[in-house]
Amino acid sequence: MRKFPRISVAIPIYNEEAGLPELHRRVMAVLDTLPGGPHEVVYVDDGSRDSSRAWLESLAQRDGSVKVVALSRNFGHQAAITAALDHVTGDAVVIMDGDLQDTPETIPRFLDQYAQGYEVIYAIRTDRKESWVMRSCYALFYKLIARLADISLPQGAGDFAMLSRRVVKHMRLTPERHRYLRGLRTWVGFRQIGVPVERAARHAGESKYSFRQLLRLAFDGIFSFSVVPLRFVTLIGTGAVAASVFYAVFALCAKWFWGQSPAGFTSLVLAIIFLSGVQLLSLGVIGEYLGRVYEEVKQRPHYVVDRVICQDQLDHDVALAPTRDEIASFLEQGATVARIT
Ligand code: UDP
Ligand code: MG
Repeated sequence: MRKFPRISVAIPIYNEEAGLPELHRRVMAVLDTLPGGPHEVVYVDDGSRDSSRAWLESLAQRDGSVKVVALSRNFGHQAAITAALDHVTGDAVVIMDGDLQDTPETIPRFLDQYAQGYEVIYAIRTDRKESWVMRSCYALFYKLIARLADISLPQGAGDFAMLSRRVVKHMRLTPERHRYLRGLRTWVGFRQIGVPVERAARHAGESKYSFRQLLRLAFDGIFSFSVVPLRFVTLIGTGAVAASVFYAVFALCAKWFWGQSPAGFTSLVLAIIFLSGVQLLSLGVIGEYLGRVYEEVKQRPHYVVDRVICQDQLDHDVALAPTRDEIASFLEQGATVARIT
């Protein structure tokens, strides 16, 4: 591993016009102090509706260290990061948000660990600046997924991380559509370490994640990395069968020994509601997995690139995002992914 790696910073951008100049200034201020350059910054414009895209495009035309990948529409945070990872060329890749909640000044600390031979260095959020309701939701989710997932996902770790080139290569080769990148990153393996980092408040603008989208991401995390919910359904079913057997024995005993059969309209109604509830819940859980299987078999690309703007290939028109197989074969030939788009 090179002592001074060339760094690529991958940043997804969706309607961040208010914070972009400050973001770029701070990222470059950090990169300029680091040996091993020329470093690069890959911005993915995830279908912004404000002036972010125009700003980024003019930046890429002025600044040789910037590459802008403009997507054809809004594909979502995880897809945008995926697009960024498909276009980076550096030895060490930093994934960070574009709202300065992930502070670029942390990059040298990541590099220290990289120099020690770690290939995945992720930030562990020590101090969130969100409301206590959100903070408890996050805490609950991380506890839940730690219990459920097949691999041990580190608690409190977000997407902010530095990855070695080969980790990025292996993440590119994971074909799944519902991408929970911090899970995939853990799944790839190699030497991984967490670094405690304070999560700053948003520099400008508002969070682009609605509560619903956060919930969807949480579901992606759980259902992509665990089959425990399916087992849980089996467990509830077994429990319900056991309960009904006990009740049948009780009813028979009541009739034979005490000469009375238990009456009760209420208990009947309760039992029916309970059991139909269990059935619908089970269908829902199975549906979550089935829906994901359906999404996967369609094999759609994760995103569509409108164009890639960087100084050597201005206004590069792109019809299709690279497929996983294309990327794999190009990587084998030693080419950079940027060239094939
Ligand atoms: N983002 C994106 N596409 C989206 C939503 C968000 O590229 O559909 C970007 C956004 O511009 C930001 C990062 O992803 O750079 C994280 O989003 P946000 O700050 O809204 O998420 P939060 O920090 O609130 O979880
Ligand atoms: Mg944010």
